[in-house]
Amino acid sequence: MSRKINFSAGPCTLPLPVLEELQANMVDFEGNGYSLIESSHRWPTYDKVHMDCLALLKELMEIPDNYKIMLLGGGATLQFSMIPMNLLSDGSACDFTVTGAWAKKALADTNIVAKSNVVYDGKDNNYTSLPKTVTTTPGAKYLHITSNETIGGVEWLDFPDVNIPIVADMSSDILSRPVPVEKFGMIYAGAQKNLGPAGVTVVIIRDDLLATCSDSLPAYLAYKTHAPKDSMYNTPPVFPIWAMKVGLEQVKAAGGAAQMEKNAIEKSTLIYDAIEATPMYTCPVDSSCRSRMNVVFTMPTPELEAKFIAEAAELGMVGLKGHKSVGGCRASIYNAIPLEGVQTLANFMNEFAAKNS
Ligand code: PMP
Repeated sequence: MSRKINFSAGPCTLPLPVLEELQANMVDFEGNGYSLIESSHRWPTYDKVHMDCLALLKELMEIPDNYKIMLLGGGATLQFSMIPMNLLSDGSACDFTVTGAWAKKALADTNIVAKSNVVYDGKDNNYTSLPKTVTTTPGAKYLHITSNETIGGVEWLDFPDVNIPIVADMSSDILSRPVPVEKFGMIYAGAQKNLGPAGVTVVIIRDDLLATCSDSLPAYLAYKTHAPKDSMYNTPPVFPIWAMKVGLEQVKAAGGAAQMEKNAIEKSTLIYDAIEATPMYTCPVDSSCRSRMNVVFTMPTPELEAKFIAEAAELGMVGLKGHKSVGGCRASIYNAIPLEGVQTLANFMNEFAAKNS
């Protein structure tokens, strides 16, 4: 079997050892005579995997003791409304930085259930930059940021300094670097980029914010339902949690968040250098906030981009087409993409530019 170099924005490539471990245990989980996905979520077999997954997240992200970690369904998209339903039920408003497509979606759902103030909107720079400072609104309960815009390729490399809790959508850069969790009131992320397969969403919330959450929501929608029960109030998404636990063990063995950051800098630099080396490629994003996870670039014509994507595919590189809303090309280089795969792409970019200029 030959595996492609998969630059998909998510779901995306998973480490081969993770897939192999899942495969080896799929039918008979660790000699129990049944698969983990056939185990009751109330049996000790599953309970250990679940609790190990929570403990690994806490360890690898250095999450302080005064935070709860939840493993929920519904994707990051459910969090867009669940956060304001829980945190703003007292009538307070939140502040929002609108930095691209995902922040816009989070804002739209927030506005359906609560009030918000937009304290930054990147429309004047077509969402290719981030603000140097953010000024919050008196009385705002939290500031929402999207730490990495998966479509636009803009990433907060430093987080804003504000005196209210930051709530961050880290769907596409979670665990790609150490983050000062204590700066955040909440962090949430769909798993399907850096953590594992789709189907589970990580939600991390500080205890004092959890205490202010609504008491009058339907059970599933209330953080107060899930947090005290370690996300076992109802049936958790057992397969993606199992896969995430195996993936986290790999990250730990590979050196943890600090090593992931070194890798991400090395890999993204290879592609940004290839972009800068020739006028064939243009990265629209300001150099101060270029994403280390999703590198976006355009070429002089859509025809050249199509040729680039087709020739790359012939060489085993897939998933390089930019999001349909923005076009161009995008190389998503999450934790599981090996350096050699990125080097292959950078070499191809240099050769393609030389041949077609
Ligand atoms: N936020 C960001 C930054 C994303 O990249 C995505 C998915 N690509 C989402 C939210 C939505 O996540 P989900 O599909 O898990 O709802």
